[in-house]
Order: sequence, then C-alpha cells, then structure tokens
Amino acid sequence: MVILRFAPSPTGRMHIGNARTAILNWLMKLKTGGRFILRFDDTDVDRSKQEFADAIVEDLKWLGIAPDRIEHQSTRLDRYDLAAETLRSKNLLYACYETQDELERRRKRQLGRGQPPVYDRAALKLTAEDRRDLDAQGRRPHWRFKLGHRMVTWNDLIRGPQHIDTASLSDPVLVREDGSYLYTLPSVVDDVEFGVTHVIRGEDHVVNTAVQTEIFEALSGGAPQFAHHSLLIGGDGKSLSKRLGSLSIASLRDSGLEPMAVVSHAALLGTSDAIVPHRHMVSLVEGFDLGKLSRAPVRFDEAELRSLNARLLHGVPYEHVADELSALGIKGGREFWEAIRGNVTSIKDARQWYDIIHGKLPLDSADSDKTFLQEARALLPPEPWDRSMWNSWTSALQQRTGRKGKELFRPLRLALTGREHGPELAALLPLIGKAEVERRLSS
Ligand code: GLU
Repeated sequence: MVILRFAPSPTGRMHIGNARTAILNWLMKLKTGGRFILRFDDTDVDRSKQEFADAIVEDLKWLGIAPDRIEHQSTRLDRYDLAAETLRSKNLLYACYETQDELERRRKRQLGRGQPPVYDRAALKLTAEDRRDLDAQGRRPHWRFKLGHRMVTWNDLIRGPQHIDTASLSDPVLVREDGSYLYTLPSVVDDVEFGVTHVIRGEDHVVNTAVQTEIFEALSGGAPQFAHHSLLIGGDGKSLSKRLGSLSIASLRDSGLEPMAVVSHAALLGTSDAIVPHRHMVSLVEGFDLGKLSRAPVRFDEAELRSLNARLLHGVPYEHVADELSALGIKGGREFWEAIRGNVTSIKDARQWYDIIHGKLPLDSADSDKTFLQEARALLPPEPWDRSMWNSWTSALQQRTGRKGKELFRPLRLALTGREHGPELAALLPLIGKAEVERRLSS
C-alpha cells in the first residue's frame, strides 16, 4: 500500500507552490490506490495557528483533496521524546551549549579562513563533568544529531540518482534549549509510525533528505522513497515568495478561478505533457507519472493559469456551473450559459453578460447610426425567437440597406450589448427578447 503525506506548517494560507505539492501527492494516491495523510507540522507553537490549519483543510477541499487521515505533530510530542531517547542511547544525539553569538562568531571565523561554515562538533569534546558544571550553572543544552559523515545515496523518483556527503553538513539541531523540536526529527518519527512509503516534496528539502535518511536508518532501519519536485519561480525568473500572498489558494478562488483549472495547471506545469484543462481528476490521473516532471525550476505565470481557466470554462456543461452561477445571483439556465461561456475567462464574468442581457448595464448609444437601427427594428420578425432568427433578420437587413460585414454587424452589436465584442448575437437575441431588443434599437 502506497502511503503519502502532505505536511504543511499551519503558519499561513496555502499558496500555489504548496498546493502543487499537495496535488502531486494526491494524484499519486489516486494513481496507486494509496492513502493520503494530511500532517500538520505545528511544533512551532508561536507561529502555528488553528485558523490556518482549518483554512488549509478548506483550501484542499476546494481543490478536490479529501485526506484519508489528519494528524497534528503538536499532539505527538511524547513520540518525539521517545525517539530522542533512542538516539541518545545510540550516542547519536549530543548536548551542545554554544550560544547563538558564539556560533555566529565561529561561523565568521571559518568563512574568513575560506572554510565551509560547518559546525565543528566542539560539544562532542565536553566531558560528563563539563556538562554537569554547565547544567549546574543553569545552562540548558540544545541537541544535535551526529551525522555519519558518509555518502548518503537515494534514487529520487524525479531527480534520479542522488548522493550527498554528510561530512559537508553541520550536525543538525533536533531539539532546542527549551525542549521543543525542530521539524527534522518529528517528520521522520511520523513518517515511520504512519508507514509513509513515498515522500513527495519540494527540492528545498533535498539536503534534509540526506540528514533524515540517516535518522530514518537509526530509528527504523530504512527510509521511504523520495521525490523532490522543482520549485515555482515567477515570470521574471525570481522566486515567487514575494507574491505568494496574492497567489494564495483563497485569493485565486475568490478571483473566480475553477479548482480544476488550478489543479490541471499545477499538475502539468514542468511536465512533458501539454498544459490543457482537465475537468476531472480521473483524466489527470491517467497521464500522471512523477517521471514526467522536469528537474528545472518551473515558471508560474498567472496569465497562463487564467487562460487555462477560460479554456476550461469554454467546454464546461451547464450542470457543472449551475451552482456557481446561482451563487452569483444568475437565474439564467442552460441557454444563457451556452450563449456566453465562450466569452468568459472566469465564472464571475458571467455576471456582466447576465446584466447586459437583462438591461442592467447602461448602453452608450451616443454615436449610434439611428436611421440604420430604425430600419433594423422595423424588420424584426415576430417571436418566438431561436438562433435562426439572427440569420433571417440580418439577411433581410442586408438586402434592405445594402450593408454587409462589419458595417452591418458592428452597429447592431454596439446598440444591443454596448460592447464591441462578445458572445454570438444569434444566441443572445432570444435571451434578450423582442421588446427589449426594440427598445435598444430605438434609444
Ligand atoms: N513542513 C515542511 C514544509 O512545509 C514539510 C516538509 C516535508 O514534506 O517533509 O516544508
């Protein structure tokens, strides 16, 4: 059984970057018939907030992701205490007493000598007596994991064969002075205890993987499979981090985007597949393969997402948007949607066409061609109208006035919709109705 986890820290709203991680995990779950755990990495009590955790659940739900299990690290501290004890008993977790200032001075010295700023393991030289003295002075230790200084290798499901020499890394701090845990150890403990088989996460965790592989081996004898996807960058080639507020899932949702446009875009970006809109998760799953993801950073362009959203909407049947339309206060049914869907980039644009059809937007007829419009009015056929009315009406009008093409259609469109462009008038006119069409042609 494939077991996956998405492990956000509930310290802010979910944005397109971490949604992509969630989506890749979710597609892998669907592809393999596995399980998806939502794990809140909330050991940082100052920054973690329940409201953010709730919002993440809501955002995932909107994206179509329903976790099989939800866990909070903050409720599992006793498990981490046990694991830390195990590591201590194996002499793999050692007490350090340096202050931040001391460490910073040492780092600067090393850099000044052209050496890599790696922790020098000075604390390993402390004797039991030294430690007793320090404890007696009221000094509280933080705890570092003793790396094996060896080559850690794994076959990354996205990046291929990887190797990192842990001799090039500082022994990581796992426990702070106040006894709280950094993310590194709890993540491994949970992955072991929840039976996680595949860790799909961003490539900012590649170095963590070398460290965590050693911890996995110390605690359970083996590590899961890893897949590190590349990160999203802005159109300007820079990190997206500054724009993440406006790229939160909540703001993308509020701006009227469809969840499956966001999901399709996030799932297909940086793959060898064409970025096309998928209306259902199942069709995305069919083509899903971690091996298709490129190692190169992926450019995220909001305009591309919006155009994908438009393409998605253009093919969406009325049943799929009926609820969204009624939430926008639109009572028009199938005919309305089919008339306008080719002219919206977001579902919210439907409102504008609804208002135009129902005469709720002022139409500017200042420079309209009044005589021509009078003639058009006189030739209107009696109701009932359907799409075919447009052809017969405009053919008659063409014969009568000798106008054709743009000269014929543009003044009609302007008078009837107040816009240069828009949905086919053949579809709009039956929705507007004869009385209102007459009124617009004579005003
Ligand atoms: N809380 C970590 C993050 O959001 C999780 C990383 C992981 O998946 O292990 O970056």
